[in-house]
Amino acid sequence: MNVRTRFAPSPTGFLHVGGARTALFCWLYARHHGGEFVLRIEDTDRERSTQASVQAILDGMDWLGLDADIGPVFQSDRFDRYREVAEDLLSRGHAYHCYCSKERLDTLREAQMAAKEKPRYDGHCRDGAQAPPGVTPVIRFKRPLDGEVVFDDEVRGRIAMQNSELDDLVIMRGDGSPTYNFCVVVDDLDMAITHVIRGDDHVNNTPRQINIFQALGATAPKFAHMPMILGADGQRLSKRHGAVSVMQFKDDGYLPEALLNYLVRLGWSHGDQEIFSREEMISLFDIADTNRAAASFDFEKLQWLNQHYIKESAAQPMGARLSEQLHAIGVPTADGPDVAEVFDAQRERAKTLVEMAEKSAYFFADFDDYEGDSAKKHLRPVVLEPMRALRGRLQALEDWGKEAIHSEIVATAEAADIKLGKLGQPLRVAVCGTGVSPPFDITLALIGKARTLARLDRAIAFIEARAAAG
Ligand code: GLU
Repeated sequence: MNVRTRFAPSPTGFLHVGGARTALFCWLYARHHGGEFVLRIEDTDRERSTQASVQAILDGMDWLGLDADIGPVFQSDRFDRYREVAEDLLSRGHAYHCYCSKERLDTLREAQMAAKEKPRYDGHCRDGAQAPPGVTPVIRFKRPLDGEVVFDDEVRGRIAMQNSELDDLVIMRGDGSPTYNFCVVVDDLDMAITHVIRGDDHVNNTPRQINIFQALGATAPKFAHMPMILGADGQRLSKRHGAVSVMQFKDDGYLPEALLNYLVRLGWSHGDQEIFSREEMISLFDIADTNRAAASFDFEKLQWLNQHYIKESAAQPMGARLSEQLHAIGVPTADGPDVAEVFDAQRERAKTLVEMAEKSAYFFADFDDYEGDSAKKHLRPVVLEPMRALRGRLQALEDWGKEAIHSEIVATAEAADIKLGKLGQPLRVAVCGTGVSPPFDITLALIGKARTLARLDRAIAFIEARAAAG
């Protein structure tokens, strides 16, 4: 069997992390089995679907690297096909026209609610109805009235539902638009989907869909319903808990590798291993190892993973990502060091790329003021002479490499008979505007000679003014 999975989001908002996890599991399952992964945009609800949301889904998938082999396929391009299948069901007695007015249906529903019954269509038009003039009918699916639908969910085990509990679903509305449960079946069939992996908010739809598969003379695919993702308070994860949109995580400085690794562990495990490369996920993933229980989203763990990937990632692709974050906070990078080298120098010092960008501005642009009381603490008259001496030595340096810079700093401290740290920290504040930076030789090398000397001049002037003021 050639495994084929699909991710079928409705484009009515951003790509939620829950959706992304579903997409990841579908993608992994297809990749693991050497099968295919379909991206299907379920945009039959023309009022709620937006182009911006389609784009957000595509961007999110792209950022996470979840590439589709087929698609994106848009349901809105397939209306003729749904109509054709509905006509086929009608002609074979598996569907019928229903002319019931909204008023009749409302009255029926109210009566059922009042009698504490589950609201459902009473089958008024099921066995043939007179077409009242001027009424455009809907098409309803004629479900079996007896028996039960049973399926073996790959996650939840055996699930059974009595047909008497189900309803004769509307499959085509009066305006000719098809409905969700119907389109899904037609598509899963036409696209030869073998495994439907989706959120368990759809588990109640599955028996309805299986009946439609059967009416179409087809065998339903296998189903795997994934438990919901919860917030720390046990409620379904939503914006109240923090970022939930995939692209928000990008904007917040997370790496796609970290988010993927986090999501794969949310509801799936392989022993107690926490870190998985993409290749490892593909080779190890199996639906059988997913968890039945709902998982709660742990922002701290995601941050830990992000820090791990920041530390481990090769500098090269990261430079571009750090640049984006620097630009986002208004720091230009054109006139500065190679951003990938700055990433390399900072990789141990940030949990997110946003934090790294904020801590790296001084590499690319002059700071307005010294941070907090760092100047007061470190730019004191005792370092005036060593600072001047160092400035002279650095100016004379022809090779602006970190070893040469290091030697000059050491030589300056020795000549002044002070410990390296007594010079190093004032130097850091002078050149970076803050007391926290990578090792000062690397930092100065990256900042460049002209900027370093100008900032030393500024610090010397600051100390001189301070000395003059007594
Ligand atoms: N379009 C549905 C949703 O976004 C998913 C349908 C499915 O996976 O069957 O919830």
